[in-house]
Amino acid sequence: MTISTRSEEDARLREAMSLLAATLESTADGILVVSGDGRISSVNNQFLSMWGVPRALVDTGDDEAVMGFVLGQLSDPQAFLAKVTALYADPEAESHDVLSFRDGRTFERYSRPQKVGDRVAGRVWSFRDVSQARRDQERITQAMADLAAQAGQLRSLAFNDPLTGLSNRQLFNDQLAHALAGPCGTAVDVLLLDLDDFKEVNDIHGHHAGDQMLIEVGRRLRACVRPSDVVARLGGDEFVVLMVGSLDADAAAARIVESLKEPLWVDGSMLRPSLSLGLASISADAYDASELLRRADIAMYAAKAAGKNRYLRFQPEMMTALLERADLEAGLRAAVERGEITVHYQPIVASRLGRVVKVEALARWERNGVLVPPQQFIPAAERSGLVVEIGTEVLLRGCTELQPWLAADPARSLAVNVSGVQLQQGNVPELLLSTAAACGVDPRQLVVEVTESVFFDDDCQVHRQLVELRGAGVRVALDDFGTGYSSLGRLQDLPVDTLKIDKSFVQMIRTGTEHLPILNCMISMAHGLGLTVTAEGVETLQQARYLVERGCDSLQGYMLSTPQPAANLPAALALAEAAAAALRGDTAARSSPLL
Ligand code: C2E
Ligand code: MG
Ligand code: MG
Repeated sequence: MTISTRSEEDARLREAMSLLAATLESTADGILVVSGDGRISSVNNQFLSMWGVPRALVDTGDDEAVMGFVLGQLSDPQAFLAKVTALYADPEAESHDVLSFRDGRTFERYSRPQKVGDRVAGRVWSFRDVSQARRDQERITQAMADLAAQAGQLRSLAFNDPLTGLSNRQLFNDQLAHALAGPCGTAVDVLLLDLDDFKEVNDIHGHHAGDQMLIEVGRRLRACVRPSDVVARLGGDEFVVLMVGSLDADAAAARIVESLKEPLWVDGSMLRPSLSLGLASISADAYDASELLRRADIAMYAAKAAGKNRYLRFQPEMMTALLERADLEAGLRAAVERGEITVHYQPIVASRLGRVVKVEALARWERNGVLVPPQQFIPAAERSGLVVEIGTEVLLRGCTELQPWLAADPARSLAVNVSGVQLQQGNVPELLLSTAAACGVDPRQLVVEVTESVFFDDDCQVHRQLVELRGAGVRVALDDFGTGYSSLGRLQDLPVDTLKIDKSFVQMIRTGTEHLPILNCMISMAHGLGLTVTAEGVETLQQARYLVERGCDSLQGYMLSTPQPAANLPAALALAEAAAAALRGDTAARSSPLL
């Protein structure tokens, strides 16, 4: 080789070396080159700064010390050492892994042979600091996990009823739609149910007890059906069960009704839940969700109307009952608008005097020449709110028609029935007092009859109005006493003057010789509280005699007179007083001191 070619070679070599050095220094990776005999032949600055190895230490050529420096920083130096040993045993091998540092950093490590032609001359190690990328990745993973957890919570809020943990309406609707889109011929049954008289549980025992009852009902429903069946709370006290592919939905419905007969205890009180359940199944003429639900609803309504605490399967005839109900309400509305609600009056006789001292005004509705029983149209009026107009009309007619009779004797009075719906409006005192004033009736000659159920709502509206009325001289009678959730214990807290014993108790008197402690108890308890007692539904002489002998203050019933229109009232009053006189004579003959 000539001098000039050698210097050309040297120049090319220097250029290649400088290119290599520049390349090594410009990379972000830390690079370490180890010769075939295992000695460090080169490192770049990045390697030194990443590992924190002093340049001077490398320059000493003490590779053991450098290795010690490196190992001291790793979380698992033994594993790294094992890898290094394995690689030196296999000079051709390439490998890659991740190194964790004690201080939390993470490096990616690559190692490949350094070859000159086909010969392995050494090994190149490169390290990349991926700590930030690793942290970012971990943050992303954590954020994804958080999002998934939140989505889960949102999903459960969106699809579960928070009180009972059952599915909610949304989920039920989705599942029903899914079931109806399933294979043809699969049974799909909807069991719609509503607790009977749940409002009273809430009103009497409080909302906590009501909530506990709903939770327990949810539990029992779940226990009555298969795990695959959907049990949802639709809201309030309404639940629904969706059964897909069930062989006997009727049996499940019967089980549900039966399971609620077991009482439950809440805060020391025993509650007896009961429910009305309507069952509807997919069929050729009911194959969409709204029709199935409509049918289940109609069947549930029919179960309530049939006496509650039962289940009924939808029958087409049930539609008729529903139409009748709608027709009744429409007819009643028209009658109210046309002023066709009239009033009949039933005399009430004071036992001691044998005279009619009071009459009760009772609403009457004649439809197509037939009187509709108030037991039918008053509930419809309460449902639709029409009872407010009816009550106002009865009061106005009563005050107008009876004004002369009342004016003739201040001891006489007129009783009107006031529904809880009217009291909810909050203006009963104004209505009564202004009507009385407009008709020239002394408010002290008015009696309002309310049933115990008006006191269930523990809002003080009802109390306030009754107290205000009593302040103006109006008296308050507790109607139908003994039915519903009556309680003799609560009587002393209620703003009432008179107790009207319900006719169902009076009917217990058949011969007049029986022992009926409940009646004695009601009368003496009321007297003990300073209330007067009226017996309703007195139909026979024996009943009248029995009641009078036990101190009942007034009697009302067919034995004295049926309710009559104002035009017939003089005759009705005379007949009632004649009947009372007969009773007086009869009782006098039996030497009662009362008449
Ligand atoms: P109520 O206030 O307890 O009225 C007494 C009911 O017993 C009346 O029924 C009356 O006709 C009936 N009755 C009276 N004596 C006898 C008897 O000896 N035997 C039998 N079996 N029944 C007797 P009616 O007129 O059918 O009214 C039923 C219910 O409808 C009333 O019961 C009352 O709760 C309600 N009602 C009637 N008119 C009105 C009204 O104007 N407003 C409101 N809110 N309710 C009314
Ligand atoms: Mg009454
Ligand atoms: Mg009554």
